Amino acid sequence: MKLCDSHTHIDQYSSSELPGILQRAMDSKVSLIIAAGTTIASSKKCINLSTQYPLIKAGVGIHPTEVQNFFDDSIISTLNQLVKNNPQVVCMSETGMDYLPGSPDKQMQEQAFREQIRIGIENNKPIIFHSRGAHEDTFRILSEEKVYSVGGIMHYFQGDIITALKAIELGCFISIARPLLRLPELEMTVKHIPIHNIVLETDCYPQPFKKHRSSWTEPRHLMDIASKLAAIKGLTVEEIASITTNNLKSIVKF
Ligand SMILES: [Zn+2]
Repeated sequence: MKLCDSHTHIDQYSSSELPGILQRAMDSKVSLIIAAGTTIASSKKCINLSTQYPLIKAGVGIHPTEVQNFFDDSIISTLNQLVKNNPQVVCMSETGMDYLPGSPDKQMQEQAFREQIRIGIENNKPIIFHSRGAHEDTFRILSEEKVYSVGGIMHYFQGDIITALKAIELGCFISIARPLLRLPELEMTVKHIPIHNIVLETDCYPQPFKKHRSSWTEPRHLMDIASKLAAIKGLTVEEIASITTNNLKSIVKF
């Protein structure tokens, strides 16, 4: 059985923790972990990790809440150089739109998102995107920038069925994370999302606000998400693993 974690921030864990995290992931049948960048520095770190650990592949991107200025030629060319001809970089991630109070200027976010989609299309890398309080604009931009030509993944999905179907219509997959274990309304929605449009992720990062280290999310928790999805869909965990892995492989080359 092989499970794939389509979105993590594993680069934010201290390097001394990584061997343990990766061992626990492998013990839980995880065969691929995508480390998503949130800044230029963290994108570089994700690429470094991907060259050190065969389990890890890298995403390059600037998170919408990390957008500090309109993208100029220099940042566009830096991102392009990180992505270009690098088989370790399998997607643009993390990019997207975030309208939570205090987030960066909307126009600035939109330009940064558009440029990152363009870099993805130019280099044939799918777009793994974030959307918080911004679905309407996120979908409009994805559509105008023709995301379907490389495909995308709506990460950490917690929306309703209409939202899921819109994303699918745009050529994107729906990525399900641990909220499925605790949100009954998400469970109801996921029941109606076709299994051939679903991938899995943990979005894991260090969580010192949780009392016990053992409850910090890690890629090993993919198994819990896969088991829950299996119960919802009336399939075996093996079938869920195989279908979601094939779904991911259909757009992300690894
Ligand atoms: Zn993330």
